[in-house]
Amino acid sequence: MATMCPKCRTGKVGKRNGMVACENYKVSNKNKKIVSVGKCSFHIFYAQNFWESNRVLSDEEMRQLIAGEVLENSIGETLQLDLKQEHCVFVKKEAKEYEDL
Ligand SMILES: [Zn+2]
Repeated sequence: MATMCPKCRTGKVGKRNGMVACENYKVSNKNKKIVSVGKCSFHIFYAQNFWESNRVLSDEEMRQLIAGEVLENSIGETLQLDLKQEHCVFVKKEAKEYEDL
């Protein structure tokens, strides 16, 4: 069954160019700047280097993220869906609480 877009809830989410994106997501390259021109801006990149270096999500992890599950990396930092993120990354990272030294 197709995964529906968590943002607009009308488009299907599919894989393309290293990301999953809503079928209503379209970009235009104006003055060397990529701008979102579609009805929906939802997309998530498989490469999540800001979360963990050289980290590329699997399809299963991507499905879990879109379903609202929380992923955890090797040092306990979490990654989860956040539709209100600035810069259109649509995920938010949270660090683990510091332990006493
Ligand atoms: Zn959408």
